[in-house]
Amino acid sequence: MTDYGFDTLAIHAGQAADARTGAVSIPIFATSTYKQDGVGRLRDGYEYSRTANPTRSALEQCLAALEHGSNGLVFASGMAAEDTLLRSLTGPGDHVVIPNDTYGGTYRLFSRVHAPWGLEHTPVPIGDVAAVRAAVRPGATRMVWVETPTNPLLGIADIEALAAVAHDAGALLVVDNTFASPYLQQPIRLGADVVVHSTTKYCGGHSDVVGGALVTATSDLAEPLAYHHNAMGAVAGAFDAWLVLRGLKTLGVRMERHCDNAERIVEFLCSRPEVSQVIYPGLADDPGHALASRQMRRYGGMVSFRVRGGEQAALAVINETGLFTLAESLGGVESLIEHPGRMTHASVVGSPLEVPGDLVRLSVGIETVEDLLADLAQALDVAADVA
Ligand SMILES: *Cc1c(COP(=O)(O)O)cnc(C)c1O
Repeated sequence: MTDYGFDTLAIHAGQAADARTGAVSIPIFATSTYKQDGVGRLRDGYEYSRTANPTRSALEQCLAALEHGSNGLVFASGMAAEDTLLRSLTGPGDHVVIPNDTYGGTYRLFSRVHAPWGLEHTPVPIGDVAAVRAAVRPGATRMVWVETPTNPLLGIADIEALAAVAHDAGALLVVDNTFASPYLQQPIRLGADVVVHSTTKYCGGHSDVVGGALVTATSDLAEPLAYHHNAMGAVAGAFDAWLVLRGLKTLGVRMERHCDNAERIVEFLCSRPEVSQVIYPGLADDPGHALASRQMRRYGGMVSFRVRGGEQAALAVINETGLFTLAESLGGVESLIEHPGRMTHASVVGSPLEVPGDLVRLSVGIETVEDLLADLAQALDVAADVA
């Protein structure tokens, strides 16, 4: 199966037709428990749905195949996946290096949930390999945690170089691959040990489900995670797993369109005087461009930009768009717009992760691009009057 191309794997990995009925779409196994043919004689290994469920297993196998990993585990949310990962592999007195512009919820998990319990963390500019090397504490650092591209400033980190830094210190490299999706970037192939996903975003792709996943490079690594997956119980339900599996089938075609549309929007924003800076790794003069070109297939559907006139002008743009819906989250077919400073990153105000007030973040959807361009144009016209 692993010889197949990405889109073939997305449609077929873990998804053989149902043995009993021949159903081509994996059924939603809405069952908590399974009949045993004698005490302990399980059919196909299924015993209780917290431990394993066939719909969830299909998604786990598909994600593992797409990420070129050995095992997948699917959770009720991205945060549940992260929490289970940390509880499984770290504890009081351990240390983790994290990006200084990490996803706000991830930062909150480290600073408000795991720090009081004794897990230490150091935020660093994760694109700076020397800074990461300096922050690592041999013997104490268990993980180097990477997001690339980062949120919302779309910084690019060198996965291969950071894997070497982590491994030199006896630590694991964990990559949150939510922004790129496995279509654009496969961190395990670059040396990562564990990939994290909020499948709520591009994997699900339709803004209709919250979910998370872990994919490990080796089955040894999967063992403690699978144990905690069951023991802590933050698993995805069958229907949610099915929605993500359905989303994955079109991930490749959706990502191509997200990237096409994002590139057109970037070009447009660069031409507008109301915009002081466009942040997108696909821009030739972006500091992460060369690296992104090496480790990503394309540059993704997320675009950030700064508006002249400060926070009020940024808020005016955001309030004026129509097709771009004002909402948190990202990665769905519909275009979204948000103000990181007051929305997704409000919890990091006053911390090293605070973002500029004039920053606007777009999750570029797959609508007709001319309609998206017209919507942004009229919103920028209004913002120009404010500024
Ligand atoms: C959304 C997100 C998460 C958290 O996932 P949930 O599904 O919302 O719990 C983690 N990391 C990144 C990069 C995200 O965008």
